[in-house]
Amino acid sequence: MIRGCDYLHIYRHASSDRLNDLSWRLRAEHGAQLELLDSAALHDKQPALAEHYKQAVLVYDQGFTINPSRLVRALVDQFIADGGEYQQMEVTDLITNHGQLSSVKTESTSINAAALVIAAGAWSTRLTRLLGIDLPLENGRG
Ligand SMILES: Cc1cc2nc3c(=O)[nH]c(=O)nc-3n(C[C@H](O)[C@H](O)[C@H](O)COP(=O)(O)OP(=O)(O)OC[C@H]3O[C@@H](n4cnc5c(N)ncnc54)[C@H](O)[C@@H]3O)c2cc1C
Repeated sequence: MIRGCDYLHIYRHASSDRLNDLSWRLRAEHGAQLELLDSAALHDKQPALAEHYKQAVLVYDQGFTINPSRLVRALVDQFIADGGEYQQMEVTDLITNHGQLSSVKTESTSINAAALVIAAGAWSTRLTRLLGIDLPLENGRG
């Protein structure tokens, strides 16, 4: 369900300083293997690409799923098989007591919780703010 591949991030304008951009520095610091391609190398690799793309960053050893829905279902099934419980409801508030999380409020109930994993994607900061945590989270796509 997961296929390995390299990634190409393409740019219309070339910059000799490209790999010093924060997002590339962070990836490199976390072990990503990066290569800056000039226009000739880029079009050699992707001959069908429009001429106005002048530079690319090649990221080695990446991957993608050919079936995101099946992958997520398999992870949920494993979570339940390991003793987890799945419920679908909107979290509306996080209640703390003396600076410690005590419960998670939803539209229909309240669940006691001393610990919480927030995995709400682009909406995660709405929930972290309820705990007074302002995360510098930037959304991306593609
Ligand atoms: C238009 C678009 C195109 C994209 N294309 C690609 C692509 O081609 N390839 C790629 O790799 N990535 C793509 N992405 C990015 C990808 O969708 C995200 O990186 C990925 O979905 C993040 O996964 P996640 O589990 O962190 O969050 P999500 O998949 O966003 O899941 C977060 C979940 O939390 C739920 N939630 C939020 N708030 C609450 C709350 N208060 N209570 C309960 N539940 C809540 C949401 O309903 C959602 O189900 C794209 C994103 C967008 C917007």
